[in-house]
Amino acid sequence: MLLKDADVVKLAVHAPYRMVDLHSGKTLLWGDKLDETTASFRGDELIFGKERFRAAGVKMISRRDGAVELNGTRYRGEISLAAEPPNRLKAVNRLNVEEYVQGVLGSEMPSYWDKEALMAQAVSIRTYVLYRKTENKDFSALHLAYQGTKNESWRLNKIVAETRGIVMFYDGRVFSAYFHSTCGGHTEDAAHVFGDKDILPLSGVGCGFCNGSKYYAWEADINKADTEKKLNKAYPGIKGISTVTPVDPGPGGHCSTVEIKYSNGDLKMGANEFRLLVGPNTIFSTAFTAQDAGNEIKFKGSGWGHGVGMCQYGAQKMAEGGYRWYQILRHYYPGVEFVQVYQ
Ligand SMILES: [Zn+2]
Repeated sequence: MLLKDADVVKLAVHAPYRMVDLHSGKTLLWGDKLDETTASFRGDELIFGKERFRAAGVKMISRRDGAVELNGTRYRGEISLAAEPPNRLKAVNRLNVEEYVQGVLGSEMPSYWDKEALMAQAVSIRTYVLYRKTENKDFSALHLAYQGTKNESWRLNKIVAETRGIVMFYDGRVFSAYFHSTCGGHTEDAAHVFGDKDILPLSGVGCGFCNGSKYYAWEADINKADTEKKLNKAYPGIKGISTVTPVDPGPGGHCSTVEIKYSNGDLKMGANEFRLLVGPNTIFSTAFTAQDAGNEIKFKGSGWGHGVGMCQYGAQKMAEGGYRWYQILRHYYPGVEFVQVYQ
């Protein structure tokens, strides 16, 4: 799913197309191309530019892949719009796994990085996606940065094609191949961070390659009053914070919980929740220490992201050092095998 609960969207098609009723399969409209047109629903009537169609859902089909544009972004595969009462709509993009990996790769890793690092990234994205698909999760629930063809390039698509169908297996099956920006020295155990089942490829390893990342070690002085305001959105009543204490660090130093002491009480919350509430671009990871400094709290931490699975910055450094994509993946996900699940 691309978006839901929208009032109106803009559609365009840059090649010959047909607009088909989702339910009856009847063609409602066709042409050599479609200039940008607004689409919205009133009940089960589609208002399409100046025209109206009796249809509670439509599918845009074009023979040229990537020609359908929704709200300024082009997508591969099929785009459908469906009415959602009252007078709202959702847009769904149906595409195959390879097209999805192509769409995600350039958003998840800088497109100019070393080919072997990008190949490793493509395999870990594909493994993650296929694992999540076995859980019947919608692609949009995967928390990957998918923006249609926006971040694709000829080079990246060729890299995806070179790893076509290749995934990592552990114990005979795919697994949740997490990745993150910078681990800060040692990757983290998925069981510790997400409460996943403990498996060897996700149990955390010494990295040794990311100390050149600017997020390897970071500091942030954060105003207490601001922090209270942010925390109050989820936890009303926190006032007069004295200390924030990280507890229960995992093998990579990422704590699972923080304890917050304030004037009339104390509170425990998930470290990741704390990080997201205060700001994931301020508190870069959950591997930190925190010191009281009057009106501020001084955070010192390491790494960027949750720390589980492949450390992207480390993968790039390994690639620059001559390691191949499969060596990078075996380093960050020990014990895995590579399987091409389709040709
Ligand atoms: Zn690292």
